[in-house]
Amino acid sequence: MYRWQQAEGKRHALEGPFPPRPDESFVALCGAEVTVACSDVPQLGGHWFDPTCAECNAVWLSRV
Ligand SMILES: [Zn+2]
Repeated sequence: MYRWQQAEGKRHALEGPFPPRPDESFVALCGAEVTVACSDVPQLGGHWFDPTCAECNAVWLSRV
């Protein structure tokens, strides 16, 4: 399944059964490898204020 995850200043999409945890990196649908910070995890008090990654959004729309 696909999910959104904020990391390194953008909200990227990824494919996987679980959301990445802080300090984990993942390869987004756009091809970028990014690392998740605590401030990127809502359960840890983070807020998803960063803009959606346009490339991830395009791939998401083409696959869903
Ligand atoms: Zn992306």
